[in-house]
Amino acid sequence: MKRVLLSGIAIVALVPFGCQSADHSPPVGGKSESQHTGPSWGYQPHNGPALWGTLDPTFSKCALGKEQSPIDLTAGGSADPLAIEFDYRQTRIAVENNGHTIQVNPDLGSAIVLNGVRFDLLQFHFHHGSEHTVDGNQLPLEMHLVHRSDGGSLAVVGVLFEEGPANDTLAPVWSHLPPEPAASHVVASGLDLASLLPTTRTMWRYRGSLTTPPCTEGVNWIVLTEPLTMAPDQIAAFGAIYPNNFRPVQPLGERVLDCG
Ligand SMILES: [Zn+2]
Repeated sequence: MKRVLLSGIAIVALVPFGCQSADHSPPVGGKSESQHTGPSWGYQPHNGPALWGTLDPTFSKCALGKEQSPIDLTAGGSADPLAIEFDYRQTRIAVENNGHTIQVNPDLGSAIVLNGVRFDLLQFHFHHGSEHTVDGNQLPLEMHLVHRSDGGSLAVVGVLFEEGPANDTLAPVWSHLPPEPAASHVVASGLDLASLLPTTRTMWRYRGSLTTPPCTEGVNWIVLTEPLTMAPDQIAAFGAIYPNNFRPVQPLGERVLDCG
């Protein structure tokens, strides 16, 4: 009883500090989120997706937003594949454990063109298990390629992974998976981004949000319908670092899933 009461006080006391704090950046380089007193978030019972909206005022969209991601997708059909063009290139990469996921930072130069607007690829990262589900089924892993236009709009391409043959394209990343959050990045020699995607470019499209705090809306979501494969030991290697870093599916609400 006492413990419950104390933790309630702690939450109330933290909110004003959260309002005044100018630094809401994730604890890159930090040792453990659980010991932080700021608005850190994670996937544990005390800081997980169900609580994100209460952890900090700037995270309110996580609880109150009406166009949130991820969502459950319906198998079959596809949005117009001609509406999106991939301009992905060979690049050097830096691999980083940022405390929430493994993130890969390529050189600038790769992009997608969506309805005539160019969105530059900024980074890509992974969720274990998948965030989007297909007919209610969760897959082992999902990759998010995050792009931004000159106007500041975001477009995220989601690629699902199922268990199967090893993924050789991602081997340079997987051979450098940093087990602990660290400020320094591990740089791998190169990656052919063009071969990172499934050959079938059918997709779902919808309007959603970031799947992590602050759950910002207005994100153009493109999820490719064809999953890639990854070997069980590759999936397990990521799972050993992040056993559970996915947000559960959110209501579709008034939105329309564009699947042709
Ligand atoms: Zn993501």
